[in-house]
Amino acid sequence: MKILICVKQVPEITDVRINPETGTLIREGVASILNPFCEYAIEVGLDLRRHYGDIEVVTISMGPPQAKAALMRCLEMGADRAILLSDSKFAGSDTWATALTLAEAIRTTESDFDLILVGKQAIDGDTAQVGPELAEILGIPQVMYGVGIELTRNKKRIRVKREMEKGYETVEIRLPGLVSVSKGPMIRSVSSFEEILDARKKELRVVTASDLIMDEDELGLAGSPTQVVKIFPPRVKKGGELIDGSEAQGAAQKLVEFLKEKNFV
Ligand code: FAD
Repeated sequence: MKILICVKQVPEITDVRINPETGTLIREGVASILNPFCEYAIEVGLDLRRHYGDIEVVTISMGPPQAKAALMRCLEMGADRAILLSDSKFAGSDTWATALTLAEAIRTTESDFDLILVGKQAIDGDTAQVGPELAEILGIPQVMYGVGIELTRNKKRIRVKREMEKGYETVEIRLPGLVSVSKGPMIRSVSSFEEILDARKKELRVVTASDLIMDEDELGLAGSPTQVVKIFPPRVKKGGELIDGSEAQGAAQKLVEFLKEKNFV
């Protein structure tokens, strides 16, 4: 069985800087980490391998050359091998172009996959769109917000426990399929020195645009229906008024008067 895990390198959340001129994230010189939800997805994949055995765990990431560091972390955690999808032609990709390029790379290099795991969302773009888009493009069933996965006896289907607004539900899908992983009971493991050394012997392959059968206008900014025009921190407005709510009737009255005063009603 083969489990593919899509992972993203993201800026260290405490070090996010925005270029005031271009309104884009500054990535140069900013510490980068493996997206936390991608780490949970890897833990789920490794857990399935520990439980059922005979499972190859492969991680794939689309990103700039420095995303190799995030893939090295995946190999240190226990992934068997890694693929970096990297080319200047992929720059500026929105979620659609990212999913389309990942799908083509998977068809080209790992078409015999059984299960794709993705993180619930990336902590920078935060759209949670790549997983569902990738499943649609590959024409496979998908389950979002998974916190636990079991294989059925014939290993042709999986049962996924997933988070709902008010509790959990269990969904069964046939393989090949895709699951997005939420935090759930997972704990992110710390790699031993031996695992860190071992990781350096594992395969980390780079795939470029020339390895894929895609038109240039499907890639990167050209292939992105959505462009992030400007990123800016929300303006903090001072001088809010706190209405004491201990006595509901009075508080409601005060709120109506305040809204009238401001001509909101
Ligand atoms: P998500 O869809 O939240 O990621 C979910 C999971 O998909 C990840 O956990 C990972 O498993 C997988 N995944 C995501 N990216 C990759 C990758 N590069 N390689 C491998 N696996 C991956 N794009 C839009 O189309 N619409 C927007 O509204 C939008 N807003 C943005 C806002 C900000 C602040 C930023 C920084 C970027 C935004 N983008 C947007 C661009 C978007 O971040 C990129 O397209 C990105 O590659 C994927 O989207 P995401 O970060 O939201 O990932």
